[in-house]
Amino acid sequence: MVMDYMLSEEEQMMIETARTIAVEKMKHVREDYDEKEEFPWEIVKEFAQADLCGVYIPEEYGGFGKGIMGLVLVVEELCKVDGAIALSLAATALGALPIIIAGNEEQKKKYLPDIASGKKLAAFGLTEANAGSDATGMSTVAVKDGDYYVLNGTKCFITNDGDAQTYTIFAKTNPARGARGISCFIVEKGTPCFEFGKKEKKMGIRASSTRELIFNNCKIHKDQLLGKEGHGLMIAQATLDNSRPGVAAQALGIATGALEEAVDYARKRVQFGQTIASFQGIQHMLADMATEIEAARALLYASTRMIDSAKGKRTSKESAMAKLFCSEVAVKVTTNAVQIFGGYGYSREYPVEKMMRDAKITTLYEGTSQIQKNEIALNLIKESATKQTAK
Ligand SMILES: Cc1cc2nc3c(=O)[nH]c(=O)nc-3n(C[C@H](O)[C@H](O)[C@H](O)COP(=O)(O)OP(=O)(O)OC[C@H]3O[C@@H](n4cnc5c(N)ncnc54)[C@H](O)[C@@H]3O)c2cc1C
Repeated sequence: MVMDYMLSEEEQMMIETARTIAVEKMKHVREDYDEKEEFPWEIVKEFAQADLCGVYIPEEYGGFGKGIMGLVLVVEELCKVDGAIALSLAATALGALPIIIAGNEEQKKKYLPDIASGKKLAAFGLTEANAGSDATGMSTVAVKDGDYYVLNGTKCFITNDGDAQTYTIFAKTNPARGARGISCFIVEKGTPCFEFGKKEKKMGIRASSTRELIFNNCKIHKDQLLGKEGHGLMIAQATLDNSRPGVAAQALGIATGALEEAVDYARKRVQFGQTIASFQGIQHMLADMATEIEAARALLYASTRMIDSAKGKRTSKESAMAKLFCSEVAVKVTTNAVQIFGGYGYSREYPVEKMMRDAKITTLYEGTSQIQKNEIALNLIKESATKQTAK
C-alpha cells in the first residue's frame, strides 16, 4: 500500500516513465558510473528520448508544463535507483530556472526549447571559493563596455560544469551596491575566455561533474543579461525557492531506495537461526525510516503544490522546510540502511553505502541545513512582525 497524494493521471505517467528508465537503464550501470566518476551521457539521452528533460518547462517553450511538481516526481523516482545520474536533469533545472523566472521572450525562445528537448544541459554559477553560504561575498565582476559586459572571476563547485552548454552566471556589475549590485547573465559554452577548471573528487554523486568556471576578460553581449542590472540576487533567491524542492526530491528518492534495499535484505539475512527482520530492534529501525520518509514526502508534495500555485509570491520558508527535512531524513535513513546491512552495508558490493554517500550532499548544496533554518526562522519572524503591524 502506498499513500494517496491525489496525483493526476499525467503525473502518474511521468513517474512510470521515470521508473522504467531507472530500473531498465540506470540500475545495472550505477556502480560503474560511480566507480569511474564519469558523466552519464548515455542515460541523459534516455531522459531526452522519454521527454523527461522538460517536464517543468512551460509548454510554449517546448516543455511539458508540469511545474516544479513534475520535476519533483521525476527526480524522486529516478533517485530511488541513483541520486547521481538523475542530478544531470535536476541541476539543469537549477540552471534553467533563472531563464524561466527572469528571461525575456527572446531569451526564453532561444534557450528553453533545447533544454526541454534534452539537446542541451544547463548549469547555475553562483558559488565562489570565498562566497558559499554568503553569495553576496562574490568577487566575480561584469564591467560594462559599450554593448558588452566583460566578466572576470572564478566560480567553484558548479554541477554539470563542462557538460552543460548553457550557464546562468552571477557577477557584480556594481560592487559598491553590495547585494543590489549583483546581476545574472546567460553564458554559452564556447564563448572565448570562458573556461573550465579543476574537477572535484567527491565523496558521493560521483557520476555528476563538479568543476570550476573561469572567466578571464570574457566578453558577453548585453542581450545576455537576465532581467535588470542589480536584480541578480533576487533572481538567485527566486530560483532557489523553486529548485530546493528538486534537492528535497533527490534526498527523498535516495532514502526511499535505501529503505527498499534494507527491508529486502532484512527479510533474507539469517542470524541466530532467524531472519534479522524478525528482531524487534531491526523492525523499529525500519518503522522509523518508513514513517520519516512518508512525513518528508507529505511535506515536500504540499510545499511544491504551494510553490506551483504561488503566482510570483515568495515561498522561501516552505521550500527551505522541504529541503531541510527531506535531506536530513535521507542522511538518517541511508545511515540506518547501512546499519541494517551490517558489515555488508560497508561493502561496495551492495548499493546502500553509495546511497549514504550520495545522500549527504543534499544537506549541503543549494544552501546547507543551517542556511535553510536561517531562512525558515527569518520568515517566521517577518510573518509575525507583519501580523502585529496589521493589528
Ligand atoms: C557537489 C557540489 C555541487 C555543487 N553545485 C553547485 C552549483 O551547481 N552551483 C553553485 O552555485 N554552487 C554549487 N555548490 C556549492 C554549494 O551550494 C555550497 O558549497 C554551499 O552553499 C555551502 O557553501 P560553502 O561550501 O562555501 O560552505 P560555507 O558557507 O563556508 O559554510 C561552512 C559551514 O558554516 C555554516 N554556516 C555558514 N554561514 C552560516 C550562518 N549564517 N549560520 C549558521 N551556519 C552557517 C554552514 O552551514 C557550514 O556548516 C555545490 C557544492 C558541492 C559540494
